Amino acid sequence: MDNLLEIRDLAVHYYSNRKVVEAVNHLSLDMKKGTVLGLVGETGAGKTTLALSIVNMIRGPQGKIVQGSLRFNGKDILAMGRQELRGLRGKDIAMIFQDPMTALNPVLPVGDQIAETVIRHEGLTRAQGWKKAEEMLETVGIPGIRSREYPHQFSGGMKQRVVIALALACNPVLLLADEPTTALDVTIQAQVLDLMRKLIRENGTSVLFITHSLGLVAENCDEVATMYAGEIVEYGTVDQVFGRPLHPYTRGLFGSLPRLRDSQRRLTPIPGLMPDPTALPRGCYFAPRCPDKMPVCGEIHPRDHLFEGHRVKCHLYGGNGREAGNER
Ligand code: SF4
Repeated sequence: MDNLLEIRDLAVHYYSNRKVVEAVNHLSLDMKKGTVLGLVGETGAGKTTLALSIVNMIRGPQGKIVQGSLRFNGKDILAMGRQELRGLRGKDIAMIFQDPMTALNPVLPVGDQIAETVIRHEGLTRAQGWKKAEEMLETVGIPGIRSREYPHQFSGGMKQRVVIALALACNPVLLLADEPTTALDVTIQAQVLDLMRKLIRENGTSVLFITHSLGLVAENCDEVATMYAGEIVEYGTVDQVFGRPLHPYTRGLFGSLPRLRDSQRRLTPIPGLMPDPTALPRGCYFAPRCPDKMPVCGEIHPRDHLFEGHRVKCHLYGGNGREAGNER
């Protein structure tokens, strides 16, 4: 089986003040083994909710996966019991969060936290667990002797390295990296990304890399998915999407990027805001902001079309759209 992860028709809702927040909407996505997939989109697009769904960590009663299926290595994640999920999280699927303090326990030495994970998942003794913790810290460039120190004794960049050491300690098959470098300054960002690249290369880990930055996607990913209002609106290889972005939203993201060699060009921001997820518009969710909007866009929600080898959810590429002739 080629697909490590198969998501089908996933819908996730949050319930607040008698309103329903439609955070993820009928989303389908496959991830092949060994790939690094970049997930881009504005804040509020549903990227983190998608990552939390993959490890079945949407917390009730406010949050609920209301529809769809998630399969990891052929196994149905949503049908797993508590014990099986504990085995999955941290061992087969690990997560790096944007803020390292959400992943670290402030009252436990960092070595203890790594040791606890490997003892639980790998069946090591306490002494072996501490040895592994020191080795992992050395791998991320932190002297093993600092394993007895607490999170507050580390700088922001070092804390994020500890989180990476923690996430990679059990050689996960899939790493969910949610804005892993956003909270770091640029020099530490580069160090952390180098480190992640090295570890991915050496361990063959698949990565879902959630980011706002198209630059980071271009440098680090094999494939890219653009997310808007809880949907994947474009999906393809980095070469396909960067070579010819098709969806007006993806094109808008590229239009808002500064270019070093084009100092005269004004940036073109995407006008307006993401729609209110408690009252999504009829038709295409991007229609109120779309420069290519057609009459059909306000009436009928677009379906996925395969166009020049990559997937795009837009009326321009099917039915009566002007690019329909090239649909494959
Ligand atoms: Fe724009 Fe219509 Fe495509 Fe939506 S379906 S992105 S409104 S052209």
